Amino acid sequence: MRRLWVLLLFLLALPALAEDGQRSALATVDLAHSALSAEGRDRGRPRPMDLRLTISQPVPYRVYFLDGPPRLVVDFREIDFSGTRAEDLPGRELVPALRWGRFRPGWSRLVMELPGPYALRTAIQRPAEGGARGALVQLRIEPVGQKDFVTRGNALSALWDLPAPAAVTPLPPRRTGDKPLRVALDPGHGGHDPGAQVGAISEAALMLSFARELTEILTRAGFEVVATRQDDSFIPLERRMTLARAAQADLFISLHADALPAGEAAGLSIYTWNPQADDRASRELAMRHDRTDLLAGLDLAGTDDQVAAVLMDLARTETHPRSEAFAKFAVSELNRAGIAMHRRPVRGAAFSVLKSPDIPSVLVELGFLTDAGDRANLFDPDWRARTAQALARAVGLWAQDDAARAALSRQ
Ligand SMILES: [Zn+2]
Repeated sequence: MRRLWVLLLFLLALPALAEDGQRSALATVDLAHSALSAEGRDRGRPRPMDLRLTISQPVPYRVYFLDGPPRLVVDFREIDFSGTRAEDLPGRELVPALRWGRFRPGWSRLVMELPGPYALRTAIQRPAEGGARGALVQLRIEPVGQKDFVTRGNALSALWDLPAPAAVTPLPPRRTGDKPLRVALDPGHGGHDPGAQVGAISEAALMLSFARELTEILTRAGFEVVATRQDDSFIPLERRMTLARAAQADLFISLHADALPAGEAAGLSIYTWNPQADDRASRELAMRHDRTDLLAGLDLAGTDDQVAAVLMDLARTETHPRSEAFAKFAVSELNRAGIAMHRRPVRGAAFSVLKSPDIPSVLVELGFLTDAGDRANLFDPDWRARTAQALARAVGLWAQDDAARAALSRQ
């Protein structure tokens, strides 16, 4: 049910975005027609609450909860909160704290600390009432038990795999302490898409066997591994991310060894998501990978609508540093293992397979099949073993670092 609400929110935001596009001034809050209210008598326990915000024009927004302490977060695109104080909202005293303001360019945020765990029951945006102009955003939240307190992430997963809410998988909780970290390995290409080819050897086959070797090393090191493909079958790029999400993976590693004209690329490199990458070779590689999906009749451009895209960008800004952190650990461990890397070992590219908003993702180009030295490495069992071991050590170091950062950010 809760998933449906988030979905509903998303749909409600659509007409608002269209309207938003026609106006230039930012929405402002009308405090005289806004209030926080609670239902029933105060018996010292959390009560159902209604937050009503009258704003000068409708805007897209999303709602979710965070814990420690429990709080409601509403991200608006965009409200100019300057000149209004959250302290002045009627009913403000019903909650321990209320803040709002500009969050990042294009986004404003309202954070309401709650007297306990809550769930969202309704979220409505409709024409303002009581003679006010603009729109009324009305959120109704109700107290729930701790086990029903759903924090962060569900809003995002609902944006994934639209329009089938039943197919939505809850986001993976960040692994902590004794739970093994789960790594999704993604051997590139497969099926009717062999990837780069040298003689009878295809990138698809080579990556499948490297993924198996890496799986064995990671498993022995105590990690759980899931693979996006186990055989020579064609898996669309979006499907690879969805599989990782369904498996609740903590980290996604796509494995490739592509071809570029000789002399253009040599050495191992690691890519993170960057749609603005201006590196010509990276752009060419990313395009080539998407083309196979296009040929298979899957139009990547059509899968994100505008609102989903901005929300995913927002989420990705939080996940991206974690992907970058993994790339850095990998480079340092590969260096220590004496693995030759590209002169710029960490780069950005718009590889669709790296688009996950919530799972740190990297694409490892183990080398280029078009480069004689790289080709020799890729066929050398010793080189492959050293590379796999270095990557596995990087996973371990990253996992520790990531857990430590997560603990810090919860404080
Ligand atoms: Zn490839």
